[in-house]
Amino acid sequence: MSLAEQMDTVTDAAVDRHPTAETFESTAPATGTVVGVFPVHDEAAVGETVARARTAAAQWAALGFGGRRERLTAYRGYLARRMHELADLVHRENGKPHADAILEISLSVDHLAWAAKHARTTLGPRKVPSGMLAADHASYLEYQPLGVVGVIGPWNYPVFTPMGSIAYALAAGNAVVFKPSEFTPAVGAWLAVAWRAAVPDVADAFQVVTGLGATGAALCRVPVDKIAFTGSAATGRKVMAACAETLTPVLLELGGKDAMIVDDDADVAAAADAAVWGAMSNGGQTCIGIERVYATSAVYDRFVAEVTAQVQKLRPGSDDEATYGPMTMPSQIDVVRRHVADATAAGARVVTGGTDDDASPGEGYVAPTVLLDVPETSAAVREETFGPTLTITEVADAEEALERANATSYGLAGAVFSTSRGRAMDLARRMRSGMTSINSVLTFASVPALPFGGVGESGFGRIHGEDGLKEFTRAKAITRRRVPLPVNLMSFGRPANAADALARVMGMVHGRHR
Ligand code: NAD
Repeated sequence: MSLAEQMDTVTDAAVDRHPTAETFESTAPATGTVVGVFPVHDEAAVGETVARARTAAAQWAALGFGGRRERLTAYRGYLARRMHELADLVHRENGKPHADAILEISLSVDHLAWAAKHARTTLGPRKVPSGMLAADHASYLEYQPLGVVGVIGPWNYPVFTPMGSIAYALAAGNAVVFKPSEFTPAVGAWLAVAWRAAVPDVADAFQVVTGLGATGAALCRVPVDKIAFTGSAATGRKVMAACAETLTPVLLELGGKDAMIVDDDADVAAAADAAVWGAMSNGGQTCIGIERVYATSAVYDRFVAEVTAQVQKLRPGSDDEATYGPMTMPSQIDVVRRHVADATAAGARVVTGGTDDDASPGEGYVAPTVLLDVPETSAAVREETFGPTLTITEVADAEEALERANATSYGLAGAVFSTSRGRAMDLARRMRSGMTSINSVLTFASVPALPFGGVGESGFGRIHGEDGLKEFTRAKAITRRRVPLPVNLMSFGRPANAADALARVMGMVHGRHR
């Protein structure tokens, strides 16, 4: 049976289990044709799925690091052998070019490999020093799985983004119930069907529920042992409020308004190339996309000329040669229009592109748009635009650039272009963001060992890397008495002078420090 047929079977079975369940369609943004019909899982259906996941979680945890690594490796191999099939589906349902989908899937496969390989060394039991006061004890630390993790995902990177939670949660020993975006349910279902095919003996360790926001809300209420949410800050707030009711911990990966700083000594052509990719790839629908550039006076004119020349070569479309596809969520076009209109009303100049009908590359698409002289108070600088737009602002020096880059409620990522390593590192450290790349954009997302996550309105918690594995565990501390000491300080039987003796020892050891 092909994977497509298996997907139909899974969907039919889900509808059969809940014959009254409503369904919803996912459509291709480029053509409007139906990609798939999926059940709207209600609270009862979500509860049943989580119950099955709970049984599987015990089985999955019992496999240990070795058994899980073996199965995660099988899953990775399965995905790697079917990259084109999955990329075709991503292309159809999300709209991005096939080549971009391949890149996204490749990154996901690499993260799966890293998480599976490093779970034992990061989370496995280890001995830690007991310290002076517990010298008669051995001390142990280990990171245990939480149980069932609910993953709620967006549509913009429908494989890479949820896999940042799914791979790390599974590798840490949890079962996962994933609620994909209502705009990309087929991709989510494909990932779960592929899991069942690759890991049949613990098939329920990774399942999918489909539906709109209410299905995500049900997953928060059921409850599960942690929610890993990726999406907008507005929905993140609702998720956190719902999880507060059951004290379910949350990981929030939210939006961004990432900036690039181009310093006096930057390689201007390279900076322009990176800014154009960072802003326009995936139609600008990238949480860590570059939406603002602050370029110093020394490079501003050259940078603007270079960006403009490069942007004019871009061609949105749905064919294989297109540089980016349609907007996945039609309502986002209105947000982009509002930001551009608001900026131009406040005196900004559209140097290329724009959202007027005559600039439009076709229904459902937004032209690559570069804006100059945008006031810092306007929506195009302060709010997440999530479209193929870029503001470029001239600043006196890199310090002013940093100050403006940091003057946002978001703090997801950013980039610095400078040929001085020390200066670039200093700027990167002081950028108020979870991630910064120097002389490139978005690179941190492709380094599995590096944690991924934001500050402020961009959320909290980390996926990827060792921090990403620990995010889906609880630290467990154990002490074991090895040899009884003559004096036990934590006993009513301790000698009367024990406290004085302890104070003397502490004075000798710590009291000399000023
Ligand atoms: P969204 O917030 O509209 O939806 C995200 C998910 O939440 C969807 O699956 C949706 O069905 C679900 N949802 C909606 N209401 C819910 C509720 N009350 N309770 C639980 N779940 C609910 O976001 P989107 O439009 O799908 O995605 C775009 C946003 O995601 C952008 O802001 C983007 O920056 C952000 N994003 C962040 C990252 C990151 O890693 N920080 C990555 C990708 C996207």
